[in-house]
Amino acid sequence: MNLFTTQAFQLSREGHLEALESSEWDIVILGAGVAGAAAAILAARSGFRTLLVDAKSFPREKVCGGCLNRRAQASLERLGVLKQLHQAGAIPITSLHLKIDKTSVVWNIPTLLSVRRSTLDTELVRTAIDSGTFFLDGVSGLVVPRADSNPPHERCRQVVLQNMSEPKGRRINLHAQCVLVADGLTRSSLRLESGWTSTVQPSSRIGVQRMVPASQFRPEGLRGSFPANQLQMIVSKDGYVGLSHTDGEFVDVAGAIDPKAISSNGGIAKTICRIIGDCKDGPLFAEKMGVEMKSLQADASEDWLATPALTRSSKRVASDRVFLLGDSIGYIEPFTGEGMSWALASAEAVMPLVSRAISSPWHEGLSQEWTTWVDSQRRQKQKTCWWISRQLRRLSVAAWTLRLCNSIYPIRAALIKKVTS
Ligand SMILES: Cc1cc2nc3c(=O)[nH]c(=O)nc-3n(C[C@H](O)[C@H](O)[C@H](O)COP(=O)(O)OP(=O)(O)OC[C@H]3O[C@@H](n4cnc5c(N)ncnc54)[C@H](O)[C@@H]3O)c2cc1C
Repeated sequence: MNLFTTQAFQLSREGHLEALESSEWDIVILGAGVAGAAAAILAARSGFRTLLVDAKSFPREKVCGGCLNRRAQASLERLGVLKQLHQAGAIPITSLHLKIDKTSVVWNIPTLLSVRRSTLDTELVRTAIDSGTFFLDGVSGLVVPRADSNPPHERCRQVVLQNMSEPKGRRINLHAQCVLVADGLTRSSLRLESGWTSTVQPSSRIGVQRMVPASQFRPEGLRGSFPANQLQMIVSKDGYVGLSHTDGEFVDVAGAIDPKAISSNGGIAKTICRIIGDCKDGPLFAEKMGVEMKSLQADASEDWLATPALTRSSKRVASDRVFLLGDSIGYIEPFTGEGMSWALASAEAVMPLVSRAISSPWHEGLSQEWTTWVDSQRRQKQKTCWWISRQLRRLSVAAWTLRLCNSIYPIRAALIKKVTS
């Protein structure tokens, strides 16, 4: 089935968004990244009338290293999407080459799966549609505050949709018994509602990413590229960069970098090349990997995708028929690749609360239950990410810790387990 010939998609493309005007939905999900699309699959399978919208036209890339850890793979298997990713050419990654300053190690790791976000998110959305979800892309959503809602519905929230493909795209209103906000770091769909502000860490890095054709990593005269099953991570004072082969003969180059370094180095591409070149034997390392530094450097900053500041958190995570999922809840720099497994886990965990919100009048106990679940996850999972991201800012300490982990097997094994499971 072709995702882009679905009825819902044609409605938006042909400018007939108004066909949905004033319609009532059990669940409207704003954002079709991993959290939103996974929630749509589960909601539609539970028999709920579900509408999923995304502001971007699909398929689209987004800033991500694209490596699925074991927890994420298990979620995707439960959703019935993992097999399609293997069929689409997702690449198993079994070792990590980590360089911090003058220290370099190669470790075997439990298998990660490297996949482009355009592939992963399209497969998730396709499965959501097959499960009965209506999907609109190129359409942004906005939750309307209760006071502005006309007419106010006790048992519903009002959402405004806007077609992004037209300069002053037409807006329509609809109602949903439950709204899932899965719009990532920007949280643009809650901008009219008060009380949802995120606390952004002032020294936060930003995320950047570019898909580079794998052919650029095999310049003539060099034999092969870096091994397809090896994730490269390079840490410098300006931030860190990960490189992994991925489906479709691409290399995903993604990094978390200091925005000040981008201005002082003259752009994103130059900063990425500098991070790679600055580490021990940088140019030689780049040559061994087969990185065509000149071609990477030639990219204009516009060729790179970028995020706002990464490290942030939201105190409120649910209120009055609205639940937050995935990155919209909060995020910590991505070194450990926690993000997608967290987003998928949040989609699975919210469903029982959504069912209760639809079947009975709203009560604040539902917000509290979601806050309790989110807090317990933050404590368990995000603590490690937080600790690692702090360590990596002090290069000499990080390099020393790396040497220690490398020489003492139980510490190394414990760290690898924490980071990859
Ligand atoms: C540099 C970097 C590398 C990373 N590497 C990894 C990795 O290797 N492994 C891993 O597991 N995680 C990684 N992550 C984290 C991962 O990318 C995120 O945690 C994950 O994408 C979160 O998913 P999400 O569904 O919550 O949000 P997103 O994937 O960001 O999806 C949000 C969606 O909402 C849409 N949207 C926004 N506003 C609106 C609106 N108003 N209406 C409708 N739609 C809207 C957007 O277009 C987008 O499609 C990395 C992150 C960064 C920055």
